Amino acid sequence: MQPKRLKPGHIVQVTALPTCDYCLASGYRPPRKARYDFRARDGRWGNGCVEHYRLHRMVPRLGIGAGQMLITPDETLAEPPLLGPGCLTIGAVMRNL
Ligand SMILES: [Zn+2]
Repeated sequence: MQPKRLKPGHIVQVTALPTCDYCLASGYRPPRKARYDFRARDGRWGNGCVEHYRLHRMVPRLGIGAGQMLITPDETLAEPPLLGPGCLTIGAVMRNL
């Protein structure tokens, strides 16, 4: 399968991954790190780990109005050959979860 390219508007670089809002709300211990900042089915925006993003996202895609994948500076530099301007493959990110 071809790696899927993430475009500007699909990813946001953060200094550190926040904690998943849904893990916190449901008492999941330990709460996982959020990998997405996304709009949920109830219309609210929140930070979610991979599992909670898949469960609660309004639409199964990233972009303006839908959600962004969160990455840290370390991950941005993880595989320089795969990077274009603002691009990173999902595979490169997932290996660093
Ligand atoms: Zn979670």
